[in-house]
Amino acid sequence: MEVRTRFAPSPTGYLHVGGARTALYSWLYAHHHHGKFVLRIEDTDRERSTQPAIDAIIESMKWTGLTWDEGPFYQTKRFDRYNQVIDELLEKGLAYKCYCNKERLDKVREEQLANNEKPRYDGHCREDHSEHTPDEPYCIRFKNPREGKVKFHDLIRGDIEFDNAELDDLVIRRTDGTPTYNFCVVIDDWDMKITHVIRGEDHINNTPRQINIYKALGAPVPEFAHVSMILGDDGAKLSKRHGAVSVMQYRDDGFMPEALINYLVRLGWGHGDQEIFSLEEMINLFALENVSKSASAFSSDKLKWMNQHYIKTLPPERVAEELVWQMEHLGINYSQGPSLTEIVKAQAERCKTLKEMAENSVYFYQDYTEYEPKAAKKWFKENSAEALERSLAKLEAVSDWKAENIEEAFKTVATDMNVGLGKVGMPLRLAVTGRGVSPEMGITMELVGREKTFERIRRTIAYLRSGATQN
Ligand code: GLU
Repeated sequence: MEVRTRFAPSPTGYLHVGGARTALYSWLYAHHHHGKFVLRIEDTDRERSTQPAIDAIIESMKWTGLTWDEGPFYQTKRFDRYNQVIDELLEKGLAYKCYCNKERLDKVREEQLANNEKPRYDGHCREDHSEHTPDEPYCIRFKNPREGKVKFHDLIRGDIEFDNAELDDLVIRRTDGTPTYNFCVVIDDWDMKITHVIRGEDHINNTPRQINIYKALGAPVPEFAHVSMILGDDGAKLSKRHGAVSVMQYRDDGFMPEALINYLVRLGWGHGDQEIFSLEEMINLFALENVSKSASAFSSDKLKWMNQHYIKTLPPERVAEELVWQMEHLGINYSQGPSLTEIVKAQAERCKTLKEMAENSVYFYQDYTEYEPKAAKKWFKENSAEALERSLAKLEAVSDWKAENIEEAFKTVATDMNVGLGKVGMPLRLAVTGRGVSPEMGITMELVGREKTFERIRRTIAYLRSGATQN
């Protein structure tokens, strides 16, 4: 039988890392078994579902590479189908019309609470045969079995059982005619032939209700796996307070999707003590049995560490693709100047994020407007102008403008002046980049370009000779 999994987000907000991890596990499970992964948008809550949220979910799934084989399906487009099945259940006596109004339900609830009972629908209309007029409002409830237990084997958490006596008769169609969430999920998973429902542990309590509906319909019951929560590193539920939680925010903050995916797979799943997994390895090794039952703590530091690993080890061309967004975000016209691949090669070792990389690479494309004050104060000294003049003379003699030749040319200046290398290199760095930190001067000057380099050095000499100081 073909394995079919799905990710079924409710579009009431952006896709957060918890949702992304659930999607990843479903995706991996399907790919591991050469099956199919379905995307379904659960938008029945029309008040809270929004188009921007749908767009954000789809954008996040695409960015992380969690592409789907079928869908996206929208629940709001399937109301006729849900209602058709509800009508069939009514006909078969497996569901019933409930005319209880709010006052009656509130009263029942109060009495139950006063008797220390769990509040639940008392089944009044299940057996009630009193006459009702056609204009009386009613909802439809599912006839949940009253006795026995619902048992299932959760592929992560093991055997789980609920007493039917604990479950009441669920509303499956509201008074306004709209079907309810727990019902739609069952019909969808049935129609979409989902074999494995992998979802957050917050849905465990829905599972027995859903299983009873499958059974009433004579539909095959899928396997279930409930994934634990993600907590912040302080043990509290992961929230904005812990930094970014939306998947696209990680893009904006300069993370590679490869790093986020690797981080998320490890957050609650493991294979020995291996940390770095290629996508192929994840697909081959992923098993629900190895997913942790306990909550996982999110660590931004570890994610950063992984990000740096991927920035350093992925092909620079691939990293450059992601750098595009950052450059555009900063409004840098990167078509004029070195290729982004060259930037990645030069900067990969010293950047934890692509945001940092972009911000630290502006001078390759645009003139800086001021010298970084701290570095200027430290490195612009009386003999800096002379060091720059001597360097410029040597650099002007370089015919093949390549990093090694450039390094070679200016390194003798320090010896000639009988000063430490920093006394030449640092004023030069400030002159060419405006900053105290950059890749090695050879590659930096190569990428800035010959004429631009000379122009910036000349400008700095003039600035130093004029005796001007910045602030
Ligand atoms: N729409 C539900 C949610 O976003 C998921 C339901 C399910 O996976 O069964 O929490």
